[in-house]
Amino acid sequence: MGTNPPIFFSSKSKIAMTKYIFVTGGVTSSLGKGIIAASLAKLLQARGYKVTIQKFDPYINIDPGTLNPYEHGECYVTEDGAETDLDLGHYERFLNVATSQANNVTTGRIYQHVIQKEREGAYLGKTVQVIPHITDEIKRRMQLLGETGEYDIVITELGGTVGDIESLPFIEAVRQLRWELGNNDSLVIHLTLVPYLAAAGELKTKPTQHSVKTLLEYGVQPDILVCRTEHTLSQDIRKKLALFCNVNINAVVESIDASTIYDVPLLMLKEQLDKTVLTKLKLSTKNEPDLTNWKTFLGKLKNPTNEVNIALVGKYIELPDAYKSISEAFIHAGASNECKVKVHYIAAESVAPENVKDKLKAMDGVLVAPGFGERGLEGKLTTIQYVRENNIPFFGICLGMQCSVIEFGRNVLGLKGANSFEMDESTPYPVINLMEEQKNIKNMGGTMRLGAYDCEIKKGTKAFGIYGKAKISERHRHRYEFNNAYLEQYEKAGMIASGFNPKTGLVEIVELKNHPFFVAGQFHPELKSTVANPHPLFVSFVAASLAGKKAKATK
Ligand code: GLN
Repeated sequence: MGTNPPIFFSSKSKIAMTKYIFVTGGVTSSLGKGIIAASLAKLLQARGYKVTIQKFDPYINIDPGTLNPYEHGECYVTEDGAETDLDLGHYERFLNVATSQANNVTTGRIYQHVIQKEREGAYLGKTVQVIPHITDEIKRRMQLLGETGEYDIVITELGGTVGDIESLPFIEAVRQLRWELGNNDSLVIHLTLVPYLAAAGELKTKPTQHSVKTLLEYGVQPDILVCRTEHTLSQDIRKKLALFCNVNINAVVESIDASTIYDVPLLMLKEQLDKTVLTKLKLSTKNEPDLTNWKTFLGKLKNPTNEVNIALVGKYIELPDAYKSISEAFIHAGASNECKVKVHYIAAESVAPENVKDKLKAMDGVLVAPGFGERGLEGKLTTIQYVRENNIPFFGICLGMQCSVIEFGRNVLGLKGANSFEMDESTPYPVINLMEEQKNIKNMGGTMRLGAYDCEIKKGTKAFGIYGKAKISERHRHRYEFNNAYLEQYEKAGMIASGFNPKTGLVEIVELKNHPFFVAGQFHPELKSTVANPHPLFVSFVAASLAGKKAKATK
């Protein structure tokens, strides 16, 4: 393994300007590589560096768009309409900087590109192989964002766990890049687990030693170990880890369990992870990180003066990761209202007219979640009828908005059997219809209406009051839309379209006139909520839920 900067590769001056940090994971999955990457990036950003994070996932799907949320949790959609891993959501929430398609690459995408080039004859008769063709394509993609010249530092998170067969080409690409870029311009952080054996009363370093050995077999020496642990790492444990894994003692970083992921940047600061990284990359540590706003947010988050109970009614509730961005948006909105938001996940299928009151009576607000397919539809409609009739604050997102339209159609307009074309193609009243441009689409991957679209808000509406402006842009992921043939009928009866796409007239927001808070959007506001910019719809919904709770208490 080469560790000296190879002079003969330094001609690519653009590359030399950007520093690369690779984050690998060992021992087990779910250690939170995304949070560590985002926390480190936050600290570097707070010191004035321009940073981006990208995720390389070893699975064969071209992107996670076709995956059931039970597989990897929510699919996060970027401004440019890429369907990506949920870790990109953490990157954006921490950094408040938009990501794009380039920030998430899978094995499938790499192979698709290489195979297409092969078909075009671009390899000039050569045998196309994992090494060098696949690894070259991985390396090219790993440097794409760096080559834009927009970033001082690019952090690359490798999905999966070291030792997995499928992640081998990625590790090999990292090995080669480390050698090409040299020690001053790149480094590897290995995130590992130091388990506590209760019976022995000890923290154990062996799993970490083994996973570093596996990395070494592949020719990669990690520079820094970030150790997930339930207990403080003693000096002895740190020394042992340093000695057996060939790293400096100050490069053994403790990552102790935290009560909130938003504590992790401060924990990493205490461990001086940012300083160790900058020193190794020969970057200045002169500017101390300015975390004033972050700390203000944490202060509010941890010292709420109120509490609200909010139901999230959806069909993937067994796995809260399926609604990651929504639950994080509630955390941001809660902090902004100095109010703890307790989110109660309710299975849509379990809600029926005979139990809806019981299920929702303790709730101050109700959100009906995005989703696909028929399962749980009736439960969502029952939920919406209940909150509409009982003046409970309601917030609908995407399918949640479409459900609010169906419910209003059936129960207020008397359109018996009104439905979305997605659920019932023979409905007499397709109040939600397949979008025209979707009608000839056969492939499911990457073909929805995706990413950012403009929305114009009507003055004098609740939505206008919430956003405080007429022109907004939000992110989307859907195939169906409000059927404008019914718009007049709806508006006359009190459900108005307060936001619409200025080019196509597609209804983006509906709201009820005579209701304390009944707002639903065709888009996904949760994708744009960050620590620095909590989303106004979430902030207002939490505020309305709190106001409703207080009003009830004084009755
Ligand atoms: N299934 C609906 C559609 O495709 C809603 C999608 C969603 O909630 N993201 O239009």
